[in-house]
Amino acid sequence: MADLTTLPDAHGHFGRFGGMFVPETLMFALKELADEYDRAKADPAFQAELDRLLGEYVGRPTPLYLAERWTEKMGGAKVYLKREDLLHTGAHKINNALGQILLAKRLGKQRIIAETGAGQHGVATATVAARFGCECVIYMGAEDMRRQALNVARMRFLGAEVRAVTAGQATLKEAVNEAMRDWVTNVRTTHYILGSALGSHPFPMIVRDFHRVIGVEARRQVLEREGRLPELLVACVGGGSNAIGLFHAFLGDEGVRMIGVEAGGDGITEGRHAARFQGGRLGVLQGTKTWLLADGDGQIQLTHSVSAGLDYAAVGPEHAYYQDIGRIEYTYATDSEALEAFQELAQVEGIIPALETAHAIAHVRKVAPAMPKESAIVVNLSGRGDKDVAEASRHILGETIKL
Ligand SMILES: *Cc1c(COP(=O)(O)O)cnc(C)c1O
Repeated sequence: MADLTTLPDAHGHFGRFGGMFVPETLMFALKELADEYDRAKADPAFQAELDRLLGEYVGRPTPLYLAERWTEKMGGAKVYLKREDLLHTGAHKINNALGQILLAKRLGKQRIIAETGAGQHGVATATVAARFGCECVIYMGAEDMRRQALNVARMRFLGAEVRAVTAGQATLKEAVNEAMRDWVTNVRTTHYILGSALGSHPFPMIVRDFHRVIGVEARRQVLEREGRLPELLVACVGGGSNAIGLFHAFLGDEGVRMIGVEAGGDGITEGRHAARFQGGRLGVLQGTKTWLLADGDGQIQLTHSVSAGLDYAAVGPEHAYYQDIGRIEYTYATDSEALEAFQELAQVEGIIPALETAHAIAHVRKVAPAMPKESAIVVNLSGRGDKDVAEASRHILGETIKL
């Protein structure tokens, strides 16, 4: 197998995907960021501070937990959960937010901006901004602010300003546009902490590298427990950061199969979904060339998912590449499958997953029963479900909870 760990190339290409499709005014900032990142990577003091804070502040390493009752219920492969839900702020997102704010500090930038969809990345960013005494502005679609009122309040408590974006669908895509506009205007003082393995180079690479620790830990932990590597890795894929974080350290392990699970929404034939590998096309969105959901004229289509964190029209370019070369497989789970999985994990293991994560859980329910009992699956438990209690209540119990 070719060495995939050297990707992307110097211009951010993963094969024919990725790149830097941005206005000229942003090229300077992106170049500056890429150069500073190269220096930071080579600086032991940077890695030492990152490691210290990941341990003391964020809560790494996270446990690799054998889900015994769930395994028994399914009657097939042993299932291990990589517990990113136990991290400070409740999801994997803080791995990247912390890494990037340390870069911002090196760049001498005191003002932090970010986009957020469900609010998890906004909360992670507001958290590290508070920790480092930075000014923080979070762009969020007005519609998402309404759906995720709890996270809006958390960001405000953390001292961030949450700016409502009312353009278009008033969700994540429009929030990214606004954050980009801010960055172009204030680039000298401001760092943009992008929240997934998306956008122009060097973001997909930087975000991946800061989440790579998930797979590095999981690989070591599963070797300790099982004395061998697992047969299968499973993770949900929005932009793709938690999935690439788990998968990357295993790319060279030929016997390890990897499956990314996209949001199937109401089903693929209905057209209301966010499964870019199911009927998407190659195009450019927000700085990168990748698979996206667009019409024949290149106009971005409306997407739908019960989980706001998977509800985005483009997938990270590195995933597009691995799908192309056949190294990683991609499938989807529908809203109703995710909601069933959400309930099952809560009731069998006492763990309420995020609705995003529930898509990965749903896929494990489909494949684990048919796998031999000696085999093992590692699934990335990317976040906890507290933020989704109101949404899940509405769907599962038919009850409206006002938060
Ligand atoms: C944001 C989020 C996701 C989706 O983002 P990726 O970049 O694809 O990981 C998945 N799970 C949780 C818990 C999230 O907060």
